[in-house]
Amino acid sequence: MKLTSIFVYQVDLPLHEGSYQWSGGKSVEVFDTTVVALETDAGLTGHGEVCPLGPAYLPASSAGARAGLRELGPHLLGCDPTLLGPFNRRMDAALKGHPHVKSALDMAAWDLLGQATGRSICDLLGGRHGEAVTLYRAISQDTPEAMAASVATHRDAGYRRFQLKVGGDPDTDIERIRAAAGVIQPGDKLVADANTGWLPHEARRVVRAVSDVDVYIEQPCLSYEECLSVRRATSHPFVLDECIDGLAPLLRGHADGAMDVVNLKISKLGGLTRARLARDLCVELGLAMTLEDSWGGDLVTAAIAHLAHSTPEPSRFSATDFNSYVTLSIADNAPCRQEGRLAAPSSPGLGLQPRAEALGEPAFVIA
Ligand code: MG
Repeated sequence: MKLTSIFVYQVDLPLHEGSYQWSGGKSVEVFDTTVVALETDAGLTGHGEVCPLGPAYLPASSAGARAGLRELGPHLLGCDPTLLGPFNRRMDAALKGHPHVKSALDMAAWDLLGQATGRSICDLLGGRHGEAVTLYRAISQDTPEAMAASVATHRDAGYRRFQLKVGGDPDTDIERIRAAAGVIQPGDKLVADANTGWLPHEARRVVRAVSDVDVYIEQPCLSYEECLSVRRATSHPFVLDECIDGLAPLLRGHADGAMDVVNLKISKLGGLTRARLARDLCVELGLAMTLEDSWGGDLVTAAIAHLAHSTPEPSRFSATDFNSYVTLSIADNAPCRQEGRLAAPSSPGLGLQPRAEALGEPAFVIA
């Protein structure tokens, strides 16, 4: 199989809730997503997607993703995307870093491999564990009362994991955590995700003030070292996310006992190939995981479903269903949340069909 052309699409994904807000006053109203279609001489087309959480969250942006695809795409024509090892080596040789650019291409390569072999990506990643994956709901930053009400609403919709967006004023964040803790039920899990927004002294004040609350603390500060200092000052279960962007920080974090749960975002790591490597390592190391991405529509949600559903259940803390946050569906037969859970499609590859009318005309084509 040879790659003959790459179609790149830009799609706007508005939010049902109007906007999504997290630490430091950052917010997004319309997500700018990028979809790639890899056409091959075998008559198969594979699809992938990458959608940064705006340009100020990780070192990634939507315009940068497309610029990177323009740069990288010509180097990939003629190679066989289903040979995932050489395909990723080719990408790394042609463009240093830029994991979010490579993520969409790697996802499309897995879609092609699944179509060529008649197997779902979930099967190719090891096979499904259990009936479905438990999802978390991100609770956009707002007043303590509004966030508690949002937890209650999403609990009624079936969610049992709640990720509160804190990382603002520490005194208000303490109120946010206490208000949300007041509406969850036994068996639910509450995470306070500061998204790097606190300085260590602020984080220490918050964890001490909520020491009686059953809450996970996620990525309180910007750097790994700051987070580790907070970790050592609290008995709360601890989650690292933004600062774990590859195997080296993951191994260091494990050696230091820096986290109990790690969030594996597909595009932060560079695609499903590298996410699988990190996932399998976490299973062996006894680290629980949230399987997710920075954001996305139906294609990213399907990729998350395949990665999460092929992860053994004891290691699977939660996953996410971004396609339920946005108003536009970009693919038919995409996986949909049911009672706070998500199952990977069983048909070959990603198991969905992108909708031409939703993608529109390509932004550019590499051929
Ligand atoms: Mg997080």
